[in-house]
Amino acid sequence: MMSIMANCTCRCTCGLTFDPPEDQKWWQPAVDWEPSTEVRTVVRYGEPPTYRRAVRVDGGWMERGVSVDGTGRPGVIPWERVGHCWAGGTHPVVAVQA
Ligand SMILES: [Zn+2]
Repeated sequence: MMSIMANCTCRCTCGLTFDPPEDQKWWQPAVDWEPSTEVRTVVRYGEPPTYRRAVRVDGGWMERGVSVDGTGRPGVIPWERVGHCWAGGTHPVVAVQA
């Protein structure tokens, strides 16, 4: 008998889900266009903004938060990279208030 994993939640190695939220707007940066400039800050869905968030800056986005601060000078990353995590996954992102 083969066992089949039903209702797989398919989490990434980093602990976040790959599934987008159902109750709020989200983007998949690898494939979706960058949001309008009203959106200043985004987080990977499920990740606390205090831990890591991406803030819009000139020429791209910059990661901020306790997991980023103190690791040296953060670089500017392009929108397409905003959903990428350290484990190599690509996650949906949601807007947060800065
Ligand atoms: Zn991940």
